[in-house]
Amino acid sequence: DAQLSPVAEPAERDDEATLRPRLLTEFVGQPRVREQLQLVLEGAQRRGAPPDHVLLSGPPGLGKTSLAMIIAAELGRPIRITSGPALERAGDLAAMLSNLAEGEVMFIDEIHRIARPAEEMLYLAMEDFRVDVVVGKGPGATSIPLEIAPFTLVGATTRSGSLTGPLRDRFGFTAHMEFYAAEELEQVLRRSATILGVDLRADGAAEVAGRSRGTPRIANRLLRRVRDYAEVRGDGRVDRAVARAALEVYDVDELGLDRLDRAVLGALVRSFGGGPVGVATLAVAVGEEPTTVEEVCEPYLVRAGMLARTPRGRVATALAWSHLGLTAPADAPG
Ligand code: ADP
Repeated sequence: DAQLSPVAEPAERDDEATLRPRLLTEFVGQPRVREQLQLVLEGAQRRGAPPDHVLLSGPPGLGKTSLAMIIAAELGRPIRITSGPALERAGDLAAMLSNLAEGEVMFIDEIHRIARPAEEMLYLAMEDFRVDVVVGKGPGATSIPLEIAPFTLVGATTRSGSLTGPLRDRFGFTAHMEFYAAEELEQVLRRSATILGVDLRADGAAEVAGRSRGTPRIANRLLRRVRDYAEVRGDGRVDRAVARAALEVYDVDELGLDRLDRAVLGALVRSFGGGPVGVATLAVAVGEEPTTVEEVCEPYLVRAGMLARTPRGRVATALAWSHLGLTAPADAPG
């Protein structure tokens, strides 16, 4: 049931590369972020200097990596891609930084997971375009300051709250990515359908968009599943009926809930009278790890207004009851 995970599966990376928007004008939605970024990039280009370091924050699958690549493309500069967990040793980061070309973009995904020594090296690099290379060991060790080329760091994080203050302060521009509206996802889907050569009708696009949890990555993935269905069981055309039938096969319902989401809500409502109940108990009831329930299911259930987190535990809202075809008790939250 990985259809609705906002995180990319390794096997889908190639498909993702095909569907990635290349320029700011191809990037759908996020109008504020687009406008702000446009100004940052154009201002820097007029001054002939690299733009401020950019922090992109928001849930997975909303286009952070795509935007980083777009920033490099708009600047006409190369991009070097790495991630916080990959920068365990400060030496690896030092090597990368000292190899940067003038004006290059360095993208660090999951930057909140960077190890402390590497993070501290980044402070100086971001501020003064310098790294201190430590030579030797023990009491005889000396640190040699090394100049590096002016560059632009683009950091991405799903949890801007867990970034340290000093790191956050060194980004000149922070963009908060929001979940996409249904019409924006329809636009993403129309674009992807054109690239993939899928005969996607307006009502089909609306149907897929409504089940995509506000996330372009999920929309594109569902489009590929629907395309398979349309080609195997139909004539390739994707309209509302085809999209519905296809997504039923994959257990993705009208609101974008999958089997596990519905199991969680079902247990909450049927076994615990709608709550409140602790997440650990709820996880046992559906046979899952508490972290899976907490990190995979709950964020969307909360956002979709079906589950409330209270100090006493999880509570099903009136919408959850009605989505399961049941009558909500009078005290269920709205
Ligand atoms: P993140 O880095 O935030 O996890 P990505 O940039 O990897 O997200 O985006 C995942 C996929 O979703 C991309 O391959 C791209 O096809 C699609 N996508 C994301 N944002 C947009 C957008 N604004 N317009 C069009 N496609 C998008």
